[in-house]
Amino acid sequence: MKSRLASEVNRILILSGIAALAAVSLDTLWPVVIALAGYIVWHLRQLFELYSWLTQKEHTEPPDSSGLWGDLYTHLEHLFRKERRAQEELAGIIQRAQSSVNALEDAVLLIDRHGRLEYFNQTAEQFLGFRHSQDMNQVLTNLIRDPRLYNYLQQGLFREPLELASPKDDNRILQYHVTEFGPGDRLIMVRDVTRLHKLEQMRKDFVANVSHELKTPLTVLKGYLETLLGSVPDEQTRLRRALHQMDQQSSRMEALVHDLLMLSRLESSQPEGVQQAVLLHGLLQRMRDDAETLSGDKQQKISVDVPAEARLIGSPAELESAFSNLISNAVKYSPAKSEIKIRYWQDDRGAHFSVSDTGHGIDPTHIPRLTERFYRPDSSRHSETGGTGLGLAIVKHIMIRHQGKLEIKSEVGKGSTFICHFPQARLVTKPTAVAATH
Ligand code: ADP
Repeated sequence: MKSRLASEVNRILILSGIAALAAVSLDTLWPVVIALAGYIVWHLRQLFELYSWLTQKEHTEPPDSSGLWGDLYTHLEHLFRKERRAQEELAGIIQRAQSSVNALEDAVLLIDRHGRLEYFNQTAEQFLGFRHSQDMNQVLTNLIRDPRLYNYLQQGLFREPLELASPKDDNRILQYHVTEFGPGDRLIMVRDVTRLHKLEQMRKDFVANVSHELKTPLTVLKGYLETLLGSVPDEQTRLRRALHQMDQQSSRMEALVHDLLMLSRLESSQPEGVQQAVLLHGLLQRMRDDAETLSGDKQQKISVDVPAEARLIGSPAELESAFSNLISNAVKYSPAKSEIKIRYWQDDRGAHFSVSDTGHGIDPTHIPRLTERFYRPDSSRHSETGGTGLGLAIVKHIMIRHQGKLEIKSEVGKGSTFICHFPQARLVTKPTAVAATH
């Protein structure tokens, strides 16, 4: 480049030298004017050629040029080629990304902050019936008109996916997973979970049917055992012991069947019966009395702290079941003469019910799994307490149905606190029908 500049300067010097010589020998300035004009015209021509080359639609070879202009064309051509290569590479990447997204078994949607569809893949056409020509840039909730999707996107709580039937085919169950990125932009993955859904339904039906079918034979068995226990003389100690154990085990089975049926109901029914204002004072006092009876010889000190007017919107039967499961666990898993505290309070985050004990506590590694069915950290201890292993699973489901959550705090050797947190929406703010709890 430097040498080109030097030769351009040389060219100007030679041209002006010749023009100056001619001007001196002819004694007129015209040769200088003509030389200058010629130089300017030549540059203007080059500029014009450059302009028409740059503005043409199809990119062609640069015009022939020498000197500084030739150099400029070579550099520009080099830059053009580099940019073309970068563009081709980018287009290739986009093409590959699109093909891979189209090959996905899941539908992929991109929506902007106004909820408009910016992109969807081929599977979305199949699952949701979208058409590129008409649905691009439309508001997603106008295309899938389901209030549950609208509320889900509005609430912005995407930890749990949403399941809905496909707008194209009622028999297809779709699961929506939303990931937020950028300001208001969302990536939605839509998965076909019809098969899983069917399997899950089969599992629920199976458990419900088996539990239901076991109920009658168990009642008959228990009835006979009770009659037999009443008629066998005290001297026949071995027979009495055997009958007594059979009676205990059938009671356990009855409790299991009862809990399994309860879980099935909680899983399959709609939570519509959870809208009554439940008076808690009397309910919790009664539960404390029941807990004292259950405590029996252990003589635990059970206290209740609940405001006299405390009311919570929910299902009376479900709340009673959840609270009594937590209270009976505290009685079962803490030693004689220990203290158990039952509390209910409200604050700006909602309502809270807690049961604290000073029992043996739970190792932190077990806490996340405690609400799984039949999960027991210590199975040997379980046989002494005679629980079903379903109590906390029932509590968890009831809390989900009340839009709340169960918190478990525990320290080995010190005790545990189980807290049910209810959202603000479940507090009673205006006069509502009060459920009878006695
Ligand atoms: P179950 O009591 O019938 O075994 P749950 O689902 O009610 O079933 O409880 C699951 C397990 O959690 C229990 O087996 C017990 O090990 C543990 N657990 C529950 N409550 C307490 C508590 N208050 N203190 C210590 N461990 C507890």
